[in-house]
Amino acid sequence: MNLATWLHQSGRVRPDAPAIRFGDDLHATYGALAFRSWAIGEFLRAEHGVEPGDRIAIFVKNCPEYLELLYAVLWIGAVVVPINHKLHRREAHWIIGNAEARLVFTAGGDVFDGAEALPDGCTEIGLASEGLVRSVSQASPDGYRAPVDVADDAVAWLFYTSGTTGRPKGVMTTHRNLRMMATSYTLDVDPALPEDHVLYAAPMSHGAGLYNFQFVRVGACHVVPRSQGFDPAEIEDLAQRLGGLVFFAAPTMVKRLIAQANRSGYRGQGIRTVIYGGGPMYVADLEQALAVFGPKFVQIYGQGESPMTITAMNRAMVLGDGMPGQAARRASVGVAQSCVEVRVVDEQMRSLPPGEVGEVVVRGDTVMAGYWRNDQATADTLRDGWLCTGDLGRIDADGFLTLTDRSKDVIISGGTNIYPREVEEAIQSHPSVYEVSVIGAPHPEWGEEVVAFVVFADAGHVATEELDDWCRRQIASFKKPKRYVVVQALPKNSYGKVLKTDLREQADQKAVPSRG
Ligand code: AMP
Repeated sequence: MNLATWLHQSGRVRPDAPAIRFGDDLHATYGALAFRSWAIGEFLRAEHGVEPGDRIAIFVKNCPEYLELLYAVLWIGAVVVPINHKLHRREAHWIIGNAEARLVFTAGGDVFDGAEALPDGCTEIGLASEGLVRSVSQASPDGYRAPVDVADDAVAWLFYTSGTTGRPKGVMTTHRNLRMMATSYTLDVDPALPEDHVLYAAPMSHGAGLYNFQFVRVGACHVVPRSQGFDPAEIEDLAQRLGGLVFFAAPTMVKRLIAQANRSGYRGQGIRTVIYGGGPMYVADLEQALAVFGPKFVQIYGQGESPMTITAMNRAMVLGDGMPGQAARRASVGVAQSCVEVRVVDEQMRSLPPGEVGEVVVRGDTVMAGYWRNDQATADTLRDGWLCTGDLGRIDADGFLTLTDRSKDVIISGGTNIYPREVEEAIQSHPSVYEVSVIGAPHPEWGEEVVAFVVFADAGHVATEELDDWCRRQIASFKKPKRYVVVQALPKNSYGKVLKTDLREQADQKAVPSRG
C-alpha cells in the first residue's frame, strides 16, 4: 500500500481542514495539500520523466512546502531522500551521488555548482522554480488521481545516517516500515488527534518529519515555525495561540524549553504532548520538565534502521505514579513497541537474563529492508532477521529497557549524531597532523560536545584556529570540534588501538577552546 493513500483519504474526508500552517498563517487545507502533492508528482513524471523507484532528494530547511514535496514523490511511487539541511553541501552532494538521485529540491535552485556540480542525469529544482509553480497553478482537477500502487516492501524513504566507517549509509525504509511506525505510535506512544497542531521544531528530514504520517492520517494540522527551526520563545507563543501542540524534541531541546519557561513564567499552556528521544534524558531533567509543564511527556527510542520504533514510554509510564520502581523506570526507555520484539543479547545472539547488559537487538515490521547498495553493512547489521542496534542496555523483569552505553562511539550533541571517524578524517587530512582522535565530552546544554585530541607532526605545529578553518571547509559546522587538546601521543593498548576511554577522562582537563 502506498503511504500517500493516507493523504489522499484525508483530502477527501476533511478537504477544508487546515493541513499546513507557516507560523499561524494557513498555507494549505487538506484538499489543497493532497491536490498539490498530486500535481507536483505529475510535474515530476511529465517534465522530468521520474518513474517509480527513482530517488528524489530534498535538501531544504523545514518549510511549509516540505510535506507537499515529500508526498508528491511518494504519490508517484518514487523514493524520497530527505537530507539534513545542516549538512555541508559537499556532504549533501555525496549523498545525492550515492543515492543516484534524479532530482534534488533546494530552496533557491542554486546550491550545487563548481566542485559540487551535480552528476549527469541529476537536476536541481528551486522551490519557486517556474515549472514547479506552473505545475500547481495550471493543474486541472479533472486529472486528479489516487496515488499509484506500490508494493508494501517498496522503498519509500532513503534515510541517510552516518556510519562509523565515516561515510553515510542509506537506510532503505519501506512503505510497510513507515505505516507500522505510524500505527505503533498511536498504540504505544500517544493518540494522534484531528485537533492537534503538530509542530516541526526539529529537522523534517529526520524523526520529526517521519512522524508526520499518523497526523496526516487523522487530518491534524502541521505547523512549520516561522524561524524554521527551534526557538523556545516562539514555541511558547505558538502553543498559546494555536493550542493542542504536539512535537518531537531531543532531550537537550526539552532542557532549553524548560530553561526558557523558567525565565518567562510559562507553564506549558497549549502544549498537549512533547515526544522526547534521540538521546539520553537524565532523570533530574525529566523531573524538572514534569514539574514545570506537567504530564505532557512521552518517550520514544528508535534509530534510523527501525525509525522511531524500538521502545516507548507513554504518558502514564513517564509519570509512573503508583508503579513499582518508578525512579528506575524514568531512567529507562520504556517497553518494546507493539510491532517489534526487543532482546538484549550476548555476542552469540543469545538472550541475556533480566538485568544483564548486552547489545539491544530488534525484529519486526519497522526494521529496515537493508542499507542501500551496501550488502556488507546490511549483513553486519541484520542477523537472522534481527537488527543489531549497536546500543548496550539491560531489560528488567517487567520488560523495561535501560540503555547503558553506546557500543559505537557516536557523539550526540544537541540531539544530532556526530560520528567521530568523519571528523577524524577531516582533521587527519591536514598536512601538519600526525594523529587525531575525536571523542564526546559531557556538556550541560548540548548533552555532549566534540573534543579532538591532536598529535602534530614533528615539523608541523599549527594554531588550532587553522585546524578549525580546515574543518569548516570540509564538514558541517555542528560537527567541528568545540575543543582541541594538543598532546604528544595518543594512549593506545597493546594492539595499537587508541584508548578513547582514557581520552574521555583527559578531556575535562587539558583544553584549548576553538573559536566556535
Ligand atoms: P539515529 O539513527 O540518528 O536516530 O540515532 C539513533 C541512536 O540514538 C540510537 O541508536 C541510540 O543510541 C540513541 N537514542 C535514540 N533514542 C534514544 C532514547 N530515547 N534514549 C537514549 N538514546 C537514544
